[in-house]
Amino acid sequence: MRKHIVAGNWKMNLTFTEADELLDELMSELEKVELPRDEQVIVCPPFPYIEMASDYANDSYFLVGAQNVSDKEKGAYTGEVSAEMLESCEIDYCIVGHSERRAYYGETDATVAAKVNQLLAHGLKPIVCVGEVLEEREANRQFDVVKTQVEGGLFHLDAEQIKQVIIAYEPVWAIGTGKTATADQAQEMHAHIRSLLAGKYGQEVADEISILYGGSCKPSNAKELFANPDVDGGLIGGASLKAADFMGIITAF
Ligand code: PEP
Repeated sequence: MRKHIVAGNWKMNLTFTEADELLDELMSELEKVELPRDEQVIVCPPFPYIEMASDYANDSYFLVGAQNVSDKEKGAYTGEVSAEMLESCEIDYCIVGHSERRAYYGETDATVAAKVNQLLAHGLKPIVCVGEVLEEREANRQFDVVKTQVEGGLFHLDAEQIKQVIIAYEPVWAIGTGKTATADQAQEMHAHIRSLLAGKYGQEVADEISILYGGSCKPSNAKELFANPDVDGGLIGGASLKAADFMGIITAF
């Protein structure tokens, strides 16, 4: 059956010393709890701290993800980081198509598809973000918007490939705003995504894919969100920057 996953997206936050302190605190908290065997914690720090995070993680308490990857294989692309580089650093996951990358760096579903291909070719698992903006929800277009993103970013994959993918539903109006989707809104969209996957790949494959919720998830609302049958965990921004808050979400299952 599919995994429960709590992934922390640090975004462009923390100095080296602050990152070290957070990882240290997180490790000592994780050492104290026994997580269910089907639960996976992932930490996605900025690139310069990936090695430090991997050293802390030691493959036992959490796995490490990147926040971005190039859509190109290698070569003269100054400033880019390739999937092959991440593979060579033994990174397991990478966030793709975050709404901030779509909004500020012009990433499209075609970019997402190209990045997903790079990651899969190098054995990394993509965490693919989808979600509507406020105007789209107000116009009741959220289901169509997410369908287009899922189809455009992922439906070129075959069944074996799609099973390597984690999807994160992140309504853009809920990211960093303090506004959370209600448990019903999250479940409704997650069920919609799973039915799209089932329509393309069959129910058995769709049931293996973890679909995370992201958007102002915190210890106080995680339990209610995660209690939904199609919500398999969370992609956590702000609350992943404080060990106590992140732990409160990790232990919410
Ligand atoms: C995110 O950006 O992936 C996110 C969910 O952010 P926050 O938890 O801060 O809303």
